[in-house]
Amino acid sequence: MRMALVAAAGTALVAAIGVVSLSDRVPESDELDGVFALAPFREEVRELSFGMTFGQILNDAGLGATEQQDILLAFREHHSPRRLRGGTEIRMRWHPDAESPHGISVGIDKDNTLLLSRTPGGRWNSSVAVLPTTVDTVYAAGEITTDLWTAVMTDPVLSEMPRNDRVNFVDRLDRVFQWRIDFFRSIRVGDTYRFVFEREKRPDGSMRSGNLLAAELVNAGNPYYAILFDPNGDGQGTWYDLEGESVRRAFLMRPLRFSRISSRYTNSRFHPILRTWRAHRGVDYAADPGTPVEVTADGVITRRGWSDTYGRVIDVRHGNGFLTRYAHLQGFGPGTGVGSRVRQGETIGYVGMTGMATGYHLHYEMHVGGRPVDPLAIELPADDPVPGDAFDRWILEKNARFALLMKAPGPDRIRSRRADQ
Ligand SMILES: [Zn+2]
Repeated sequence: MRMALVAAAGTALVAAIGVVSLSDRVPESDELDGVFALAPFREEVRELSFGMTFGQILNDAGLGATEQQDILLAFREHHSPRRLRGGTEIRMRWHPDAESPHGISVGIDKDNTLLLSRTPGGRWNSSVAVLPTTVDTVYAAGEITTDLWTAVMTDPVLSEMPRNDRVNFVDRLDRVFQWRIDFFRSIRVGDTYRFVFEREKRPDGSMRSGNLLAAELVNAGNPYYAILFDPNGDGQGTWYDLEGESVRRAFLMRPLRFSRISSRYTNSRFHPILRTWRAHRGVDYAADPGTPVEVTADGVITRRGWSDTYGRVIDVRHGNGFLTRYAHLQGFGPGTGVGSRVRQGETIGYVGMTGMATGYHLHYEMHVGGRPVDPLAIELPADDPVPGDAFDRWILEKNARFALLMKAPGPDRIRSRRADQ
């Protein structure tokens, strides 16, 4: 158990680089000089270790059985004490010379703190405080010297964010640009990027990337843009190019996030098990067993079952006569019964090698009007452009976001900066 006596907090924050704000920046308390004065009360911070209960913490703090019961009762009005995880921070405050604490705060999760306080009558009350999160707008810009993954993972602006958040950031970029650029094959050394995104900062100093507002990727001299816009104001924005065309397609480029194509669509290939020449009317993606399989477009499940050839297989019917098939699955995702509606990107199963398969892979098929087509060769239907009734607002917001993007150093400045070194 970690225990510390805290008198006054005074941590300095490193000045943020590359911060551009849509509004004036509000100074944060963290940036003020620490005030040194005697605390009016004593505070103890304890951390719940694995296997330990909140009750044991109260017991260790010397609270009597009745008071413990009273605290737990107040606690349960908002949260189950049993659901507290190892590592949860518990702060207790005592008035000078008091026997038992008058206030306890428990971090339930990153955004919510449960506050317990003793009334003058001796009863315990509880409430939940939502930690204020500040959001600022930040840009990152750079040149790709190995690959986009490495560029993003080592970007100095992004380095303030947790590693798995940066992983998500690369994933988000890939989700936005997948139809224009193949990150794994087309991105080359010398390509440049500029991103403007929201960054959420919590009072404890931790950060998380928020919405990707605008992005530019210059690939082999060609710039690609994606600007976030929410046409109907429902909070479900999507990305458009500078002309207002959606950068998205009705189908994802591939049903697995990180995978390798192991066999392409052909009318004739040598089959490794049947040892004869046969057509391969699909695309195989090699991946680790259990890798989530994402449905490539909105649709309805029309088949979920077993076949000797396909093993565990799912068929999904989409609009305009499209059907997709996912075969050799190890298992099915939740909510995938026949007749279920699924959304693009939803996990419908997991990579396996059931049926006629020589290794772990997903066999993916696409049919149009009942005939198989090559999903890598077909022109995928486009998503809707910015709707006419939102076009005026789009122009305003696009110009504002594009201007923010242009504040980030562009390809020329990035190259000259590198030449100076
Ligand atoms: Zn196959």
